[in-house]
Order: sequence, then structure tokens, then C-alpha cells
Amino acid sequence: MQDKKFISEVQTLLKFIQLYCDDKHDEKKESVSLEVPYKGRNLLHVNFDLCLTCKETFLYCIQRLQECPHEEKPKCRTCKTPCYERPKWKELAKIMRHSGMKLGLLKIKKLFSKS
Ligand SMILES: [Zn+2]
Repeated sequence: MQDKKFISEVQTLLKFIQLYCDDKHDEKKESVSLEVPYKGRNLLHVNFDLCLTCKETFLYCIQRLQECPHEEKPKCRTCKTPCYERPKWKELAKIMRHSGMKLGLLKIKKLFSKS
């Protein structure tokens, strides 16, 4: 995939996982500052505060994205080399659902607070 696409994938992913972790996990979080390389170059810099589990999920996802062989990322369901193995995919689906709903709600709240 293109650099730009990779960057936005990582940033979106982090936003979702961070939101989920803030909501669901009370355990101690680690502040991490990380350079994310892609195709041999450091492409972006991310900062996050995640618990160990979520950090592992995030790092795992980054790794899978880095290894994705597709130039144009196909739809996950139809992909022959899916990014995520089954158990991780389920975990991730849970995160996406939770944070997606929450982000949706935040948007709606914003809409209302403007008026
Ligand atoms: Zn967490």
C-alpha cells in the first residue's frame, strides 16, 4: 500500500484502540513513543498510553500492516492473505465496534452542542 494509506491505517487503528483501552481497562498503562517504519523508512511517530494487552494488539496490527503484500488493500473478507489471525481479528472487531459507536456518539453530541 502507499505510504499515505499506511499512515492513515496506523493512526485510525491507534485512535480506536486508545479509546477502547481508556474506557475498558483500568490497569496501569505504559506511555510509549514509537517510530513506525514502513518499507525500510521511519514513516511516522506515534505516542500512546495503553495497557499491556492493547499495546500488544496495536503492535501486532502494525506488524501485519507492514507485512501486507497488497498495493491496493482488498476488503478484509475477500482477502486471501488476511491481516489478522482469527483470535486477534475477533478482539479487534470488539474494539472497532466499541470505539466506532463511541466516536459516532461523540459526533452526534458535537452536533447537538453546536445548536
Ligand atoms: Zn487496554
